Amino acid sequence: MKQGKLIIFSAPSGAGKTTIVKHLLKKFPSLSFSISATTRELRGDEKNEKDYYFISKEDFLHKVAHQEFVEFEEVYNGTFYGTLRSEIERIWDIDKHVIFDIDVEGGLRLKRKYEADALAIFVQPPSLEVLKERLSGRGTDSAEKLAERFIKAEKELGYADKFDVILKNYDLDTACAEAERLVKEFIEK
Ligand code: 5GP
Repeated sequence: MKQGKLIIFSAPSGAGKTTIVKHLLKKFPSLSFSISATTRELRGDEKNEKDYYFISKEDFLHKVAHQEFVEFEEVYNGTFYGTLRSEIERIWDIDKHVIFDIDVEGGLRLKRKYEADALAIFVQPPSLEVLKERLSGRGTDSAEKLAERFIKAEKELGYADKFDVILKNYDLDTACAEAERLVKEFIEK
């Protein structure tokens, strides 16, 4: 197995990291998305094995016990998310770099593990208020789930300066262009 690089996009949910990651995947054929495993339910038009590996809690905990994750977390109460070692290897085996859309603590854990092979980018929304509007506007979460996401988002905004780069997402086109520049520089290094 060859070892490629890791490009980590982290942010509170609603900051726009998924949109930026999707943009980069279109621009750079040498990148491949790390499909995380999760115990949450499918949302909207998501597809199993494309957006996530949607698995049961039992299956998830079994994989934890067998050290199959490079990082995992109970991101929300009772809901687990994690990056499988086999997923990173799958992508490196096809000679690509791995790009992650992952929560803040998971992102920092990967950065600590892979150090100079990883670029950790924090996507910063204009404000907590804008973030709340974006999350509510999605209309895919219950009031209870939304409240949980708001609390987590507020905490995560405080972790920004632990990342290699803070990417401001005040305007999506500008953020995408800047993300392209950062990724190009890192993969050509
Ligand atoms: P969502 O439910 O909105 O898809 O994701 C919730 C949060 O979990 C997001 O911040 C997302 O980036 C994060 N997440 C997705 N996959 C992983 C993972 O493998 N590990 C960790 N730690 N967080 C993840």
